[in-house]
Amino acid sequence: MFKSFYTQLAQTSLAGSPIPQSDCLQILESPDIDLLSLLGAAFEVRRKYWGKEVLVHILNNVQNGYCSEDCHYCAQSKSSKAEIDEYPMKPDEEIFAEAKHAYESGAFRHCMVFSGREPSQKRIEHIAKLVKEIKNLYPIEVCVSPGLLDKEKVSILKGAGLDRLNHNLNTTERNYAKICSTHTHQDRVATLEAAKSVGLQICSGIIIGIGESLGEIVEMAQTFKRLQVHSIPINFFIPIEGTALKSTPEFTPEYCLRVLCLFRFLNPEAEIRISAGRELYLRSQESLALYPANSLFMEGYLNVGGASNQRTLQMIKDAGFTIKSDQSLDELLKKGKDAL
Ligand code: SF4
Repeated sequence: MFKSFYTQLAQTSLAGSPIPQSDCLQILESPDIDLLSLLGAAFEVRRKYWGKEVLVHILNNVQNGYCSEDCHYCAQSKSSKAEIDEYPMKPDEEIFAEAKHAYESGAFRHCMVFSGREPSQKRIEHIAKLVKEIKNLYPIEVCVSPGLLDKEKVSILKGAGLDRLNHNLNTTERNYAKICSTHTHQDRVATLEAAKSVGLQICSGIIIGIGESLGEIVEMAQTFKRLQVHSIPINFFIPIEGTALKSTPEFTPEYCLRVLCLFRFLNPEAEIRISAGRELYLRSQESLALYPANSLFMEGYLNVGGASNQRTLQMIKDAGFTIKSDQSLDELLKKGKDAL
């Protein structure tokens, strides 16, 4: 591929212009792509909006299991036979302790995830109280993922000071019926629209490797752009034994990096988060993901473990990046070493 191809990609992305479909597909599959040149072009775009900062996120799986939905990829779904540690909503004290831990570990944002189709009025008021208290206690951004919501419920969360609402679209509308029968893609879009309508930032991600075509990956990146999604977690599917989805993807690090670059070019200003699968699929190339992506999860995912904080922070430092936090990366690393 000519040098001008990569320059053109970066310039088109930075100008906010659409990238032709044929170029998007080339990014994903052409053997002529030079990976380092592609990463360099994606980094030019990342640098304009995010510099060399990484936004670290720590998840709190506030309620695990007990879900009425049948998302085939999910260990918490009603159709799943996966052996998970099911528990109802954690006590408030435990939730506050986890928020404190996230702040002290250098997280820029604390994400609280609740299983279930949609929260009751009582539950949403409870979540709002938790958000308000956490925002009072720590200078940390808070994102919640509580399920399907209407405008009235998102207004309650917005009123409590919530920064961002997560609701993943996961895949295209066409592919959605193959991964879930209890709600629709449109139900999920409606929740994002409701959150946007009250001025909340929105976070919505994709799972790569659940039956989508390459064209559908491009379509999802375009959908997020159209919906003006602020934050896009990119998950690479990790099969969990006992779940209904039998896909066993064998992603190469190069493929994962190409996907991340595509999302950066099509969503130049968005927070692109390398999420589930970072450790498993990127392996020795993990730090290269920081060129297109500016955000990651630390301490694992909902029902799958991840690298330790110390290893993740060291990876960021070794690659020449830093973190967005009021705590210094060096101090956090020292604190981690002292605790060993
Ligand atoms: S993804 Fe969410 S809604 Fe779907 S089964 Fe899992 S916990 Fe339930």
